[in-house]
Amino acid sequence: MALKIYNTLSRQIEEFVPNEAGKVKMYTCGPTVYHFAHIGNLRTYIMEDVLEKSLTYLGYNVERVMNITDVGHLSGDSDTGEDKMLKGAQRENKTVMQIAEFYTQAFKKDCERLNITWPKTVVPATSCIDEYINLVQTLLDKGFAYISGGNVYFDVSKLKDYYVLTNHQADDMFVGVRDGVEADDSKKNQNDFALWFTKSKFEDQELKWTSPWGLGYPGWHIECSGISMKHLGEYLDIHCGGVDNIFPHHTNEIAQSEAYLGHKWCNYWFHVQHLNTEGGKMSKSKGEFTTVDTLIERGYNPLEYRLFCLQSHYRNPLVFGYSRLDGAKSAYQKLIKKTLNIKQNNSGELNQDQINSYKQKFADALENDLNTSLALTCLYDVLKDETLSNASKLELIESFDSVLGLNLTKEEAPKTQNNNTLSAEYIQQKIEERLIAKQNKNYALADEIRNQLMSQGVVLKDSKDGTTYEIKN
Ligand code: AMP
Ligand code: ZN
Repeated sequence: MALKIYNTLSRQIEEFVPNEAGKVKMYTCGPTVYHFAHIGNLRTYIMEDVLEKSLTYLGYNVERVMNITDVGHLSGDSDTGEDKMLKGAQRENKTVMQIAEFYTQAFKKDCERLNITWPKTVVPATSCIDEYINLVQTLLDKGFAYISGGNVYFDVSKLKDYYVLTNHQADDMFVGVRDGVEADDSKKNQNDFALWFTKSKFEDQELKWTSPWGLGYPGWHIECSGISMKHLGEYLDIHCGGVDNIFPHHTNEIAQSEAYLGHKWCNYWFHVQHLNTEGGKMSKSKGEFTTVDTLIERGYNPLEYRLFCLQSHYRNPLVFGYSRLDGAKSAYQKLIKKTLNIKQNNSGELNQDQINSYKQKFADALENDLNTSLALTCLYDVLKDETLSNASKLELIESFDSVLGLNLTKEEAPKTQNNNTLSAEYIQQKIEERLIAKQNKNYALADEIRNQLMSQGVVLKDSKDGTTYEIKN
């Protein structure tokens, strides 16, 4: 079988054929570093990591580039609202560069804890200003861009197929973006987008560069075209992001890149569906969101969240809740215990035929539009196969884990009440019982639960976001 993957561009599952046999050029839209990444953002990065690891597993040599958005991203994705970086800097009384540095490191730490491989080439948007200026100048020279009201805009009416990625008619997209959008009188067409701002809406914009059009800063979309072309050349195999990037960000990336290059730029577009809370999409701008730190504070291993993501298909929306995460936690702990048992009783011959047949099944699952839940079923089949020696099982677990990234053979046995530490499920259950007691105005019971946990070394902390806990030695 060959890898088959859903391509947003054609709206169907296609066989994956890179431009150069055996080599894949992959670009990932990186985070806007004005705040911590939430676990929704991280769902996208986990699945992109699984894509990269799967490509490697299937024998491709992957060259991957990711940007870090530290300039140009306004809170409305279509040139409206406040500058996100400026907002972050004002919130924390720091400079934009301090904010960018702090949240880039925080994102890197999250990636490490979730076993997301840091791409070999990670590029801050502020480091490629010359490339954007060259792109914008060429777009002006070729007549795809115009200057108006002090800014440079891309003229979407100059393209036959601006809506190629969305299959939307222009009118539909107007409806899609009209909500809450302040009309920009400088634009010729509603969906024209800024390539370069010289007339900043933000008087106190910190970062500005000289350009042929005056002192200013780049629009958000141009950075991904500039960085991708600089590091991966004119032909890209696969470009990734969350589904909210399809319009306008990726639509605009295609428009400006292909207008600049004069030929097709990227063949496959890979989009991860959103992680939602019961109240809707998890989003940074709403201000209330769950981070990897929140998960750790609540007693979860970040890899339990990784497993939670792998259990569902990347193209299905995923609803997050702690009771659902508890299911993944318990599944993860069982996997670790079983693997540990196999490691401690590692014996028997390696049966290469059996090993190859299981590896093939695992590869088939990945080749089936990255079917990670089927890949996990393959792992469970290995664990329960009584005809397989432990030596063969261990080899297979290690091989599968190069894609799953669950540290299956590296984790220690999960801590339980038996070794003097309360399990996270137990504590969580007690927190829930206490919450119900409070809702029923049974404050005596709520206090009793708190005191009981305290005597067991668990200190509860209440905040407007709920109750977290700390374990005291
Ligand atoms: P940002 O830091 O806002 O630029 O977003 C980083 C990545 O997270 C982008 O690829 C987004 O498409 C993606 N993303 C944003 N919200 C969610 C969500 N709730 N679930 C999954 N991915 C998301
Ligand atoms: Zn991008």
